[in-house]
Amino acid sequence: MSANNKRVYLSPPHMGGAEQEYVQQAFESNFIAPLGPMVNGFEQDFSKLSGLKHCAALSSGTAALHIAQHILGIGPNDIVLASSLTFIGSVSSATFLGAEAAFIDSDYKSWNMDPDLLAEAVEYYIALGRKPKAVVPTDLYGQCADYDRILEILEPHGIPIVVDAAESVGATYKGRHAGKGALMAAYSFNGNKIITTSGGGLLASDDEEIISRARWLSQQAKEPLPYYEHKEIGFNYRMSNLVAAVGRGQLEVLQDRVNRKREIFDLYKEALSGCTGISFMPEAEYGRCNRWLTVILIDEKEFGATPDQVRIALENENIESRPVWKPMHMQPVFSKNKIFGGQVSEDLFKRGLCLPSGTAMTQDDMDRTVKIIKGCGK
Ligand SMILES: *Cc1c(COP(=O)(O)O)cnc(C)c1O
Repeated sequence: MSANNKRVYLSPPHMGGAEQEYVQQAFESNFIAPLGPMVNGFEQDFSKLSGLKHCAALSSGTAALHIAQHILGIGPNDIVLASSLTFIGSVSSATFLGAEAAFIDSDYKSWNMDPDLLAEAVEYYIALGRKPKAVVPTDLYGQCADYDRILEILEPHGIPIVVDAAESVGATYKGRHAGKGALMAAYSFNGNKIITTSGGGLLASDDEEIISRARWLSQQAKEPLPYYEHKEIGFNYRMSNLVAAVGRGQLEVLQDRVNRKREIFDLYKEALSGCTGISFMPEAEYGRCNRWLTVILIDEKEFGATPDQVRIALENENIESRPVWKPMHMQPVFSKNKIFGGQVSEDLFKRGLCLPSGTAMTQDDMDRTVKIIKGCGK
């Protein structure tokens, strides 16, 4: 394979430099076994960055969402309202607990949960005597959901909000970090996220009791006794000290990563500005997106090719791109679940394509990508 045909990935890990030093420190202290000072340090760093007062570092974003909903006491036959346009990790936790997920469509302004449809869903379930137990909006592709409008709808009913902020580390809503203002927020440091620990997650809240309970539950819910005694069933979801060491290094470069992701978005926008039929994911006026992935919409008639034809053309040149998340209400596994609205996320799925957005990508990588996209048009 020639040098100029090297694989361009969607969003590969990009280390900042200090990670190895932190890992080295962890080795030297011999805190290889699960817990240790790096975990505490990572939680403190994240708390400082996000403004959420308490944090529990966990093994994945999915684990954080699971523990969050477990703490809320969600169980069989409860209703959990979630975004339809999201990744399965956002809603599998409701299923783990035996609850029923119902889905809310997106709006075009943010591609996130449409607050008007959420209001409709809340009224619908209250009228049935099944007040939703939680609402889990996703911050899609690094753009915050409209938290204030969502809170305005939920507060009169006392329904808690757990933000799925897996994709929005470093993004802001009205100047606050993603997830701030929610009862709980879940973050992910999976391999392709804006920063990564090689796999990890975190649950944050301003409520200290919630987070100490999350820590306890994530370590098998042991009673504070010299022998192993259990009054409740917990999980094995704690982040390991080595993983947290990587996370501490990554947090140091988060702001650079956000700036670079936004620059990549702007470069694509500029380079594709002449293409009729291509438009970009909007940025809602209330926040600053981290642009985790640059996402475009392709109008087949105007552009002259479908998103899938573009994806295949890119793949043939060893460049990775991906369709927009397939909405949850279109998933076979959720064929019986209720959806409020649905056409917006279906349309975004049909027309959307996520472009390679790695923060270490070169100008040559971008030029190759743009050239192939342009070549697909008429
Ligand atoms: C990545 C992601 C998750 C899951 O995070 P993991 O750390 O991979 O478990 C959940 N929700 C959304 C929206 C995600 O993008």
